[in-house]
Amino acid sequence: MALKPLDIFKLLPKTNCKECGYPTCLAFSMQIAMGKEDLKKCPYISEEIREKLASASAPPIVTISIGKDEEKVSIGGETVLFRHEKTFYNPPAIGTFINDAMNQDEIEKIIKDSANFVYERVGVKMRTNVIAIIDTEKNRFLDIVQRAYPTKKSLMLMSKNVDLIEKAVNTCKDVNPIICSADKENWKEIGKIAKNFSVPIAAKGKDINELIELVGKLQSIGVNQILLFPETDNISKLFEILVCLRRKAILKRVKECGYPVITFLPDLKANNYIKEALYAAICIAKYSSVIILSELKGETLFPLMLARLNIFTDPQRPMATPEGIYEIGNPGNESPVLITSNFSLTYFIVSGEVENARVPAYLVVQDTEGLSVLTAWAADKLNAETIAGLIKKIKIEEKLKTKKLILPGVLAPILGELEEELPDWEILLGPREAAYLPNFLKNLPSSSE
Ligand code: SF4
Repeated sequence: MALKPLDIFKLLPKTNCKECGYPTCLAFSMQIAMGKEDLKKCPYISEEIREKLASASAPPIVTISIGKDEEKVSIGGETVLFRHEKTFYNPPAIGTFINDAMNQDEIEKIIKDSANFVYERVGVKMRTNVIAIIDTEKNRFLDIVQRAYPTKKSLMLMSKNVDLIEKAVNTCKDVNPIICSADKENWKEIGKIAKNFSVPIAAKGKDINELIELVGKLQSIGVNQILLFPETDNISKLFEILVCLRRKAILKRVKECGYPVITFLPDLKANNYIKEALYAAICIAKYSSVIILSELKGETLFPLMLARLNIFTDPQRPMATPEGIYEIGNPGNESPVLITSNFSLTYFIVSGEVENARVPAYLVVQDTEGLSVLTAWAADKLNAETIAGLIKKIKIEEKLKTKKLILPGVLAPILGELEEELPDWEILLGPREAAYLPNFLKNLPSSSE
């Protein structure tokens, strides 16, 4: 049973010191009760009280890690219904399936595509995260598991054969495979495997009541890594179940509903990959944690991953690129230096235009807390003093014979000041729009002129 804000408040120090970022202990306790804050933010809570409050502060949806090494991802762990209330934390794992009736070439292609579809956007690598393997009693299930295992992606092991599941889990347990799935008949037997190997298991049910009942049974034998797997071939019904599960978990704190949810899109029989991509987009926004597509196609996978990236970024914190020197096109000691802010979109637009110019250059990115150039200047986070300080700190002049610094055109008001701060540098005012950079850089007079 979740604690109420006043129950939590009674256990807090009540000094209203504001160190947690809230004006009062009561305000902090309300956030904890809603699962929106972390107890660690109050440095004055004793270990004993922390343990007491742990259940109240745990996210209403259990977090589960799947995959291994660089392929490891977390799913679940959400605390709100809507992104604008705080943020969504863990993007859904996306992948496709292999059926053991497929021929060898098809199987190899899916494994290869799952590993090779990697896109980079605003410094983030977007990739697939899971491969579902379906046993149709062709006696190839274990062989496919062994072949897919080196991808280090989590494997969703879909078989009705409990012995086979046990052998498969033993083969790939370190990628934290998802056993798929427990149902009314097999839950005890298959649940024990999940418990013994400490891997996640999917509970499959036709509606919320069936799911809740099955989760209760799995919990009763000590299984705690559970995923919910609604079984339907209808997108409206699926959508309704996804929303109801999330509402029950967040608003009513129904523990049996507080687990990540799998959607297996081939069951919906969209018969059209564009239509299926639309279904997948719905499931990304509301509220799937694992999404299995019928196939991986770049033209739908990339937009889906982009939608996932956009929905699962913190709306209160702009995406930022690390501060530092970025070399574009193998620059030398006479190459110009450009300066910009660390708002990721700004960085990618500017670096893209410098690449288009085919003029080797250094791009210096200043930490402006994710603000764009003009906003950072208005907020006094990007000015002559900060730029000069950064140029000196990173010692870029050690790479240069001629010191030529290009200032974004919108920073014209600080040109004179910057010249005073960096007397050894030639400061040039660049264009106001990044789109004009290629032309500007191509026509830059060389140092000998
Ligand atoms: S840091 Fe702790 S003691 Fe201080 S206001 Fe927040 S909850 Fe209260």
